[in-house]
Amino acid sequence: MPPIFLHNTLGNKKEEFIPIKQGEVSMYNCGPTVYDFAHIGNFRTFILSDILRRVFEYNGYKVDGVMNITDVDDKTIKRSVVEGISLKSLTHKYEELFFSDLEALNIIKPQKTPKATESIADMISLIEKMLENGTAYKSSDGVYFDIAKSPGYGTLAHLNLENSTKERVANDEYDKTNPRDFSLWKFYTKDDENVCYEAPFGKGRPGWHIECSAMSMKNLAETIDIHTGGIDLIFPHHTNEIAQSEAVTGKTFVHYWIHGGFITIDGKKMSKSLGNIFTLQTLKGKKIDPIAYRYFVLGTHYRSMLNFTWEAVGGAQVAWKKIKSFVSKTYDQQESRLVSKSIIYKLSEYKEKFSKHINNDLDTSQSLAVVFEILKDSKLPDHYKQELILDFDKVLGLKLDEKEEEKIIPENIKILIKERDTARNGKNFAKSDEIRKEIELQGFEVKDGPEGTVITPR
Ligand code: AMP
Ligand code: ZN
Repeated sequence: MPPIFLHNTLGNKKEEFIPIKQGEVSMYNCGPTVYDFAHIGNFRTFILSDILRRVFEYNGYKVDGVMNITDVDDKTIKRSVVEGISLKSLTHKYEELFFSDLEALNIIKPQKTPKATESIADMISLIEKMLENGTAYKSSDGVYFDIAKSPGYGTLAHLNLENSTKERVANDEYDKTNPRDFSLWKFYTKDDENVCYEAPFGKGRPGWHIECSAMSMKNLAETIDIHTGGIDLIFPHHTNEIAQSEAVTGKTFVHYWIHGGFITIDGKKMSKSLGNIFTLQTLKGKKIDPIAYRYFVLGTHYRSMLNFTWEAVGGAQVAWKKIKSFVSKTYDQQESRLVSKSIIYKLSEYKEKFSKHINNDLDTSQSLAVVFEILKDSKLPDHYKQELILDFDKVLGLKLDEKEEEKIIPENIKILIKERDTARNGKNFAKSDEIRKEIELQGFEVKDGPEGTVITPR
């Protein structure tokens, strides 16, 4: 297998990736907190984990991927109380919306997407172990991790512990300049409404950080290859995950920590709290295809900050469509039945070049430059260009072979079309009318063509 280099936040340098098990990669992606729509900043980080997975698979690795769904924490509980609905119905709704946005961005769903609420017993067991070995202690409002008991606490974030104060912090997302004992378990208060779990150390609910430690160890292993997230997760979230996991197992929690830069607006991090967010729906409303956004993201190295503007994403859409319109055509393969030596050489040279860039800390912008170089190559017959670019698209995920008419029709609508055609063929016109209405409700015009239902977006 060719070498893959990744920038590891632990150690803050680019390193060759050496897997725990030869040919295999265990990878945990910190997933969304499902209390609202995810914004396009969040999706930049999820595109990063998707590219990482695709690069490993392109190189012949088997990837075992996990992305958690945070469906119980301070934010989800607060929102369910404000909306007056149960935590479960709130989080279920946003989880479904999240998965359909992943699909729109052509992000391959990780093999496992566990919910925090399904692993409460595992979190309790980790906390019990920390109470037993003295790295955690009980206070009046919950169980806390004692950072003084964690040798090397804060190495990931290069923290200066002189700033730490000997006090506790109950909030999961605390002041980044002030490392403190953090919450593992929060005892029940009436603000939690009916969200609480029985535990030997007292009724309550988990803190956010322990959720990821438990789900990573349960679904993968005590030590894994890769853990990903945006740079805002380095401290406190990932720092605390390391401390508590290693306090329980005595083993290294993760070998490679990969962190992505922010999407910014006017140089400021896109975030719900600043109110400067756009969702995929906002993009679609402005006729920007989610895949054009993916292309925009791939144009910049994942560790750099990326400032979002409508102009830049519009430019990305034009460039993406240019490649796509070339690649999705059908080319005459006869024209080049006789493969010359120079073509064989060119093909392997381009492939090597692409691999070199993508294996060099996921340099997607240089990899895209190779695609343009191929397009401009007047000596390479079109169908060879097409084959090469489609091969690269296994990594880029830009849906380059998708025809225009296939593109706009979502999976659920395709199923309805099939059902309608079956109903019509069986002369069940009542049912076919019912399905027509359902398709129309979802924003498509329905016509009857000679080969069955034909739809167009309104
Ligand atoms: P959250 O749902 O807030 O836990 O965030 C989900 C993921 O999105 C985390 O990995 C964050 O680090 C990441 N994230 C949050 N804001 C941004 C942003 N503006 N740009 C890139 N990634 C972000
Ligand atoms: Zn996490």
